[in-house]
Amino acid sequence: MHHIFFIFLILLATALPYSTSAQENDNMATHLGGKVDIAFKAATINSSFFITQYTDTAQLFEFMLHEDIKVDQIQINQETYKFQKNKEECGDCQLYQVVLKKALSPSDTISIQTNLRFKHYAPRENRRDYKGKIASNYGILRASEQTKWFPTIVRRPNNLPITLVEHWYTYDLEVNCPDCRNVYVGKGEPQKNGGRFVSKTASQDIMLIAGAYNWSMGASAIYLNIDEDQQKILDPLFAEICQYYEATSGIKMPTKFIFAHLPSDNKRWGGFMTYPTIVNTQKDGNKKNLEAYLSHEIAHYLFGDVYKPYSSLFWLYLESFAEYFSYKYLINYHPKVFQKEYEKLQNPKLRFVRLDEVKELHEVTGQHRYVTGAFQLLAIEKLIGEAKMMELIQTVFPKLPHTSDGYAAFIESLTEIGIKQDLIDQIEADFIKKFDLEAYKKLLNQPK
Ligand SMILES: [Zn+2]
Repeated sequence: MHHIFFIFLILLATALPYSTSAQENDNMATHLGGKVDIAFKAATINSSFFITQYTDTAQLFEFMLHEDIKVDQIQINQETYKFQKNKEECGDCQLYQVVLKKALSPSDTISIQTNLRFKHYAPRENRRDYKGKIASNYGILRASEQTKWFPTIVRRPNNLPITLVEHWYTYDLEVNCPDCRNVYVGKGEPQKNGGRFVSKTASQDIMLIAGAYNWSMGASAIYLNIDEDQQKILDPLFAEICQYYEATSGIKMPTKFIFAHLPSDNKRWGGFMTYPTIVNTQKDGNKKNLEAYLSHEIAHYLFGDVYKPYSSLFWLYLESFAEYFSYKYLINYHPKVFQKEYEKLQNPKLRFVRLDEVKELHEVTGQHRYVTGAFQLLAIEKLIGEAKMMELIQTVFPKLPHTSDGYAAFIESLTEIGIKQDLIDQIEADFIKKFDLEAYKKLLNQPK
């Protein structure tokens, strides 16, 4: 579903996972504690965040916050520090810098007090809504990790632009919202006013959903703002997709995803994933094309969370791989839906991107990320087989944090997993260096 929104997505940085190897160890992860006070009707959020377990050799502490959030005070071990705003391009956020007297150690506590006035949009008003906005639509306040509603630490040097940087935290947040029906933060079940949201597993994805909505527990997922009939359709679909992905990738899927319907007035926006929360932003609840939509979003657990994208081919590794898995699922379970995906490849306006010539992230266009790239991967699988393709995934992703040349890493990995040079040459000649619609035709009705 969200392929058709790619033009919109090109313009806007979507939220992307980022971590350094040290942060992947939960015991060593930075901890985010604090209290978040939401006055829903008055449309304000006052927060006190506490950051501990953070080490850096730099004497400059840098973090990002959403541009509408104001910083009241920054303290380190209860001593107030001056801060400055940096002009570096940050998307919808503001970069803050604090000059330290000495480098930070894990026992230091950084306290950041903030306040925010958010907006309750009237129906049909918030047409330019997207994942980077803190928005209250139709009685529900939504803040994804991309909005930076909590401080996001910037650690340098970094091989991605800061707009794509996220920081991993374990967290313990108390959220008060006396005039909310339910509040949800990060994962698990929504809670009432005064709920505490705790994660001992580090995550870069901390999503906030507060307001007037109901929720229910399904067999395969937790549903927020979803009616019973829709849940009956979604629950088996979740199970089917997760089962297929587990069997194919050999990676255990999370016990429970959270599926939220948070209607938005941006008609070109289908939804997004802030792991493990899958959000459907379509007003009608996206009753059509659920298979394509859901299988893409669920695949982002694999490509985004388990396998992290970096390098010049960042978007291929994030979006095309997720879409490739979605296609595999559709071919096996919903071949008619896959046929529609193939029709997108026939778009006469398609401008082919030479992956072997890409230098900058943005050169991989939306069309290529969501359609052509996924078909290229499917075509490569047809040539080398599924088992080798899974081996390729396991081989190439660990290389990506250490290189900017995502294409070289790809070819190097094909060699490493034992693909013969003449086959690699064929892949490059037929699918990378040129685009021939006919060459993809045999992927239809692919027997499995
Ligand atoms: Zn995606």
